[in-house]
Amino acid sequence: MCKPRQGKRRPEYLPPSSSSPARLRSRGPRRPEMARKGVSYVSAEQLVSMARDPRVAIVDVRDEERTCDAHIAGSHHFASDGFAERLPELAEATRGKETLVFHCALSQVRGPSCARMFLDYLSEAKEDSGVKSITVLERGFNGWELSGRPVCRCKDAPCKGVCS
Ligand SMILES: [Zn+2]
Repeated sequence: MCKPRQGKRRPEYLPPSSSSPARLRSRGPRRPEMARKGVSYVSAEQLVSMARDPRVAIVDVRDEERTCDAHIAGSHHFASDGFAERLPELAEATRGKETLVFHCALSQVRGPSCARMFLDYLSEAKEDSGVKSITVLERGFNGWELSGRPVCRCKDAPCKGVCS
């Protein structure tokens, strides 16, 4: 049931320069302060100290791998598959947080794209969410685990944050 984590995903076909990523980002000329800053990256080392701060929320956007692999203690789980439909739920779940840290397995595709989607969602919301920065964990969960950081194997989502 669980696929090997390093296994090759479906081959990606990239059409030669027909779609520009810049095109996707140019929606509307004016954004609030936070949105202009965009999405930045944090290292596993930085996250270790950040995670102790109650104003920081970790958002795991891996799909089914989360149920097979471990996760970072205290993380929320909003799978990238169906992420767009759950944006209001994520906003509710992270109410009162100032910094969000998104990650997937490697934080190369799903993590950054979900982070940008949430950033766009907050920028277009009428109320100020209080979120000051949206970041992505460099090298994702795999990098976190490979560098020997603590992981949790509970079945809760969101994780209650107790490592065992
Ligand atoms: Zn847990």
